[in-house]
Amino acid sequence: MDVIAHTTALIVGSGGNGISPAVYFKRAGITDFLIISKHSDFGGTWFQNTYPGCEVDVPSELYQLSYAVSGKWSAVYAKQPELLSYLRKVAADNDLYRHAHFETEMTGADWIAEENCWEVRTTRGLYHADFLLLATGYLEEAVIPPVPGRDSFEGRLFHSSRWPGGYTGAGDRIAVIGTGSSGMQIVSEMQKSASAVTVFQRTPTWVLPKQNRKLGPDDHESVYRTASAAARRGGEAFARRESAWSDVLLGRDPRTYEDRALKFLEEQVSDRELRAILTPEHSFGCKRTLYSDDYYAAVQRPNVRIIPEAAAEIGSTTIKSASGQEVDVDTIVFATGFYFGGHVLSHVRRRDGRSVAEVQAGHPRAYKSVSVAGCPNLFLIGGPAPNGQIWHGMFAGEATAAYVLAAMEFMAKNGLPALEVDELAEDDWKRRADEILDRGPTVVGGCANYSQDELGHNKAAWPGPLRDMAEALGTFDPSAYRVVDRPRASSGLSSGCAAR
Ligand code: NAP
Repeated sequence: MDVIAHTTALIVGSGGNGISPAVYFKRAGITDFLIISKHSDFGGTWFQNTYPGCEVDVPSELYQLSYAVSGKWSAVYAKQPELLSYLRKVAADNDLYRHAHFETEMTGADWIAEENCWEVRTTRGLYHADFLLLATGYLEEAVIPPVPGRDSFEGRLFHSSRWPGGYTGAGDRIAVIGTGSSGMQIVSEMQKSASAVTVFQRTPTWVLPKQNRKLGPDDHESVYRTASAAARRGGEAFARRESAWSDVLLGRDPRTYEDRALKFLEEQVSDRELRAILTPEHSFGCKRTLYSDDYYAAVQRPNVRIIPEAAAEIGSTTIKSASGQEVDVDTIVFATGFYFGGHVLSHVRRRDGRSVAEVQAGHPRAYKSVSVAGCPNLFLIGGPAPNGQIWHGMFAGEATAAYVLAAMEFMAKNGLPALEVDELAEDDWKRRADEILDRGPTVVGGCANYSQDELGHNKAAWPGPLRDMAEALGTFDPSAYRVVDRPRASSGLSSGCAAR
């Protein structure tokens, strides 16, 4: 296979968390980097998820990059097209398109010890890089459960993240399988145009009101009048979200939120039977909270029916629930979620030749959610990172980018071609993270959720507020790392294969 490029740093992924390290590199004067992506543009989750009604559930004022603050969000919670435009603009403004190789999917990565570099296999050929940054996304790999008969269906059948371009559902009889964030948004939107929507709800989830509204010039003027006013307001809003997530995720006070969600349900749904169907049995925070102003109204419309069971069988024009309730449908939407973090680490081989996934054996871990034992010069950037995400998926990208730069600077200064995290440091960090998260509802809340790893620990959340993440990643701590090659006489970043 041809080597397409030798580069100092290869970033895999073109979502927000691929963009941030690239921007941080440029600002530090590092221009020898490439971004590869299986997608055909920047945007990540907002490129991939295009279903009608798709919008963020973190206020846009917070869900943006600190180096690209937009004062012009059209709503408190922006919709997918606006988020995609925003990320594409950030990439263009920072001249990242010329660093990007799209439609290039990583299929494997090996550390080449003699060269001190990563050899990355892709669908287009090989890349060699001194540093490998995996920003491949948290919720990227679609899960489509093998419901019997799936392949015999003659209508439209697709996963929520593979929405057919232009499909509005108008006049169709649609089955939506799944009631997570995606399913809920899809049901609320499809109900407006479909002739019938049948919702297969295996487990209800707690819903809080979103209180979304459009923003206009007056809002923009009042929020972003001065940089300091905007920063103060943003800081306060951030602190409120942090506090709420810590209350829930760390098990400090989930009851307050559960009571709020219960009250919202009671206000919105008068029918006792429907309310019972929509009332979760697990603790608040066990599954990721849903935020919606219109879901409860949507499921009470005459063209919507909730079947509180799993989808169990699919026929050529029908879908059946676990107890045998059968519905004729034109379209089946699998809003059945994602495999958190994907399987990218099964394609990355450690120095000892074993895949990271094999060694981690269902208990994914990385030191500070960034560095993986056995993998020199490799960094997880809010992607397959165990313990990388809480409520703001793009925050980790910036925090980690700063850490990567600090690591690279340390290595350049000391003439070190390759550093690898110590296995004990990695284990110790993960053990402490587990101790914290094991007390919270994602682990002991009484439900199954996508955060749980094969041992039942949380593989998704940073074990504390995001401010702690920024602090922990604010300095590079060499004591947790070891040199995997003799220091070379020359200093500088390009001491590995990229220089050849
Ligand atoms: P999800 O939360 O994992 O939900 C998957 C749903 O599919 C669950 O309700 C699950 O039921 C159900 N399911 C799976 N197999 C089923 C079957 N055979 N029959 C019936 N139901 C079945 O996935 P998601 O909704 O795509 O959301 C994933 C994450 O993406 C969210 O938590 C959020 O972080 C992010 N997201 C965010 C937004 C946003 O507003 N910003 C929008 C969409 C997604 P069980 O609960 O019983 O397993």
